[in-house]
Amino acid sequence: MLAPLRTELGPSALADLLRELLAEARRAVAAGAPPPREEELLQRARERGERLAAGSLVPVINATGVLLHTNLGRAPLAEDALQAAREVASGYSTLEYDLERGQRGARDHHLEPLLCQVTGAEAGLAVNNNAAALLLALSALGAGREGIISRGQAVEIGGGFRIPDVMRQSGVRLVEVGTTNRTYLSDYQAAITPETALLLRVHRSNFALLGFTHEVALADLAALAERHGLCLLDDLGSGCLIDTRRFGLAPEPLVQESVAAGAGLVCFSGDKLLGGPQAGLIVGKRRWVEPLRRHPLARALRIDKVTLAALLATLRHYQRGDAEQALPIWQMIAARRESLATRAERWAAALGGELREGVSTIGGGSLPGQTLPTVLVALPPRLPADQLAARLRAGRPPVIARVVEERVVLDPRTVVSGQEAQLLAVVKAALQS
Ligand SMILES: *Cc1c(COP(=O)(O)O)cnc(C)c1O
Repeated sequence: MLAPLRTELGPSALADLLRELLAEARRAVAAGAPPPREEELLQRARERGERLAAGSLVPVINATGVLLHTNLGRAPLAEDALQAAREVASGYSTLEYDLERGQRGARDHHLEPLLCQVTGAEAGLAVNNNAAALLLALSALGAGREGIISRGQAVEIGGGFRIPDVMRQSGVRLVEVGTTNRTYLSDYQAAITPETALLLRVHRSNFALLGFTHEVALADLAALAERHGLCLLDDLGSGCLIDTRRFGLAPEPLVQESVAAGAGLVCFSGDKLLGGPQAGLIVGKRRWVEPLRRHPLARALRIDKVTLAALLATLRHYQRGDAEQALPIWQMIAARRESLATRAERWAAALGGELREGVSTIGGGSLPGQTLPTVLVALPPRLPADQLAARLRAGRPPVIARVVEERVVLDPRTVVSGQEAQLLAVVKAALQS
């Protein structure tokens, strides 16, 4: 009866599972429940065993309308990025090999020219993620010295990742200037001492500061840093290369703009608005990039070949100028209301739901408060919203939905079209069971 599970799980994991089920059943009986029938126990073992065999890291359908959902893995990759990753992972590659000379090459050489071309920078490299990029830049350029940051930017990014903590971890002494809402060039100027190594600017990715505020323009900070021979490190967070105003969104700062404004180093994530794999990209002036490459942490934080292949394929779309058409994150941002409405109508008809006007959000620490108009499908209220949402999460594949005003709603914007049939099947089953 349990033979297939034994093959899938292996004998000891299956034995653990059965012991656990029996212990649960004994506890239930001790608490007054009737003893379970054998068939019931076997059924429980099969269900739980199948879930165990599938593992806990499984694909889900994101019907939340949050495009860069950090908990759901941020940006989906383009098909050719996946293909590139597959090719490099399944055999050997020129990762650190120079074909012409038949000798050792450098893994950075694949990336740097492309990164420079799409951002306008002189030099660049990649590490594991943007947190690692910050740690590396701060450690290599500022350890044992001072780093100046505006009080309004000494922020927490998410998941407990705090800029002041990463500065301390890098051995940089934090010098905060200005106030939470207003910081002037003169505040930075007055704080510069012979101990200063860098000025740090952090983009407020996940909140907005409104009202009586003042920030120093990046170009002015860059000029100040230049005069004193300091590095201006600009943590952009999302690393956008496409003007978001074209889609009716607020302007997300562009990497090219930071480079052009004269930042010494600009760091950003690979899997936010760039639309690639998890990575931390650092671009800027050669004199600041080179010490990073030579620092021992660079080796500890370097990206692997599979990620590198996917990243290169992603960046090539920016080089060719077809990122909006080819990268899933930009396809979703660019999706027009009419095409979303067409899909929503089809779903509503199939599921017995109603259409609602609504909004999708960017998420993932990009464009806080910014939304895109969408058409939602509100599912029929046959059972309480949290119960229905839980049933959708138990589907195969799990469907993650949003609850708005006591109704479960689905946003077509974040459901890639190849997933539509699966989505409808899971939702139909959840509504019926
Ligand atoms: C998201 C973010 C980070 C962290 O990037 P990861 O790639 O998740 O490590 C750092 N700084 C800012 C401003 C961010 O928005």
